[in-house]
Amino acid sequence: MNMALEIDRLAKSYHRSGERLAVLREVSCRIEPGRFVVIHGPSGSGKSTLLLVAGGLLQPDNGAVSVAGHDLYTMSPEQRCRFRGRHVGFVFQRFHLIPYLSVLENVLTPTLAIPAPAARARAERLIEKVGLAGRIEHRPAELSAGECQRVALCRAMLHNPALVLADEPTGNLDEHHAAVIIAHLREHARRGAAVVLATHDSRITGDASLRLSGGRLEPTPAAMIGTAI
Ligand code: ADP
Ligand code: MG
Repeated sequence: MNMALEIDRLAKSYHRSGERLAVLREVSCRIEPGRFVVIHGPSGSGKSTLLLVAGGLLQPDNGAVSVAGHDLYTMSPEQRCRFRGRHVGFVFQRFHLIPYLSVLENVLTPTLAIPAPAARARAERLIEKVGLAGRIEHRPAELSAGECQRVALCRAMLHNPALVLADEPTGNLDEHHAAVIIAHLREHARRGAAVVLATHDSRITGDASLRLSGGRLEPTPAAMIGTAI
């Protein structure tokens, strides 16, 4: 069976004003379809960097990433972009919603590959599930941060991707809405996708909990996992 996500000895540094900051030193993991995996780590530990590299959005210095058996960084940038559009859903920490589009239009942005009527019905269903049916015509500027986050989640799920990467998707949410989002992601995993969620919130737990520390990924020590929400 192909792993939904396989990361092999990944390394990534940033370079700024002559200084090198090694963020990922040697990160490896294998995540099967149907798994809900949480990556813990304090702010600045490299969680967003890891998800960007895993999602084909940031070229690593070393190592390999494959999604559903396809090696992302041996593809051309165009192939990778197309592949991502079909198989990867990304919930960005800063949402990246398009300001002049409505909630519904934002959720529909990845639909180029899907016939429009089916996509629209699915978008409406997703929006309703996250409690935003009453906001469907709103623009992002007319929403709270937590509502934007829920729109970003719907957009990431629209094309039913095999891999969902969610970067602090509950960062702006109260406990009730955080639980709704987590339930939603868990359900997506139950239907066969792999879901990887990065968070600094120790209350969020998955089927497996990993911790990013010192540029490496290890199982989260049980003592560091809080009461689940
Ligand atoms: P996290 O998501 O765990 O908070 P990030 O992956 O965003 O961590 O960042 C890890 C480290 O890399 C931080 O110290 C951050 O300041 C630095 N960093 C992130 N992006 C860049 C960039 N584009 N250029 C330089 N440094 C960066
Ligand atoms: Mg981050």
